[in-house]
Amino acid sequence: MKKDTLLATTARRPGTNFGIVNPPVYHASTVVFPTLKALHDAGQTPFEGVYYGRYGTPTTFAFEEAVATLEGGEKCIALPSGMAAIACAIMAHVQSGDHILMTDNAYYPTIKLCQGLLKGFGVETTYYDPMIGAGIAELMRPNTKIVFTEAPGSITFEVQDVPAIAEAAHRGGALVVMDNTWSAGYFFAPFEHGVDLSIQAATKYIGGHSDAMLGTITMAEKHYEHMRRTAAGLGYCAAPDDCYLGLRGVRSLAARLARHQDGALRIAKWLSTRPEVEAVLHPAFPSCPGHDTWKRDFTGASGLFGVQLKDYPINAIAAMTDGMEHFAMGYSWGGFESLIVPSAPAPMRTAYRWPWPGQALRLHIGLEDPDDLITDLERGFARLNAAL
Ligand SMILES: *Cc1c(COP(=O)(O)O)cnc(C)c1O
Repeated sequence: MKKDTLLATTARRPGTNFGIVNPPVYHASTVVFPTLKALHDAGQTPFEGVYYGRYGTPTTFAFEEAVATLEGGEKCIALPSGMAAIACAIMAHVQSGDHILMTDNAYYPTIKLCQGLLKGFGVETTYYDPMIGAGIAELMRPNTKIVFTEAPGSITFEVQDVPAIAEAAHRGGALVVMDNTWSAGYFFAPFEHGVDLSIQAATKYIGGHSDAMLGTITMAEKHYEHMRRTAAGLGYCAAPDDCYLGLRGVRSLAARLARHQDGALRIAKWLSTRPEVEAVLHPAFPSCPGHDTWKRDFTGASGLFGVQLKDYPINAIAAMTDGMEHFAMGYSWGGFESLIVPSAPAPMRTAYRWPWPGQALRLHIGLEDPDDLITDLERGFARLNAAL
């Protein structure tokens, strides 16, 4: 079966539940057993079947199965947010005295987790240049347990050479964890490129409508029991309604992504002609670091990209952003609506130098007509120029 057929077919149980296509939303804490023996037996394998609400319900399991199919993994665990998935995947594999290699362009709260809680627990983190590739071998230490990748990275969109990094990480005995949110698990097959644990903020494209908080960790069978035990032990439990929305999102993911991709490519191309733009940070453009790696390893692009602007004063940037008709300002992305967020990448980077001092705009291209979005940006640039 081709991928899009799989996404329509996975995790369905024809002939059950009165023939209704989607599973119901099970709300559960207590699960009761008829005898003491049944209760004890179920406790021997708490991660099989339905045992206790925190360990998941049939709604959770259907969503997990669908995401495992999407990413080409054997198992998936749903978590209450993308950040919970990141924290859980890392904390399951480090102890005091261990070392993490973290890409310098990771989602910023991931970096803050390393700088704060994990540092306090005695776990040391070294940040690396996302374009390091096989050179990561030189940063590996005997106590390096995790090499964390994100491609393309947050804000600056460098595309990492994940296979080269994974090869060096595995040689040194470390696990490769990837934040695969940008590709939605659709445009990048993590397990064909050396990833051990693939994380998504399913809050983004899988949810797709800006109304659910959800994270996933997808993996091979051999990592499952330890990860499930850690997630349950830390108390992580994805909400049943959000799992339901996530499963619904998987069904329409391919169709939505095709539109996000087309709109983003058109708008990025238009932006590349603008005098205000220093560089288009879209992996499909040669100006984006790692463009060749993207061409080799990815099968497409989602709707999130950046543009580095010339070094304009912040009041001129605000004149642009504050008057937008269609691009709203706010965090998260992956929904049907377009978003714009400015930020200055240079001060955020500690392991390499970002070449431009000014602001970069992060754009999420939603499902609106691209012509309306271009008009909105054009008027925004006019306001920016008038404020100089
Ligand atoms: C949003 C985001 C997260 C965190 O997801 P939440 O569901 O908001 O916790 C993690 N990684 C990336 C790349 C993100 O964009």
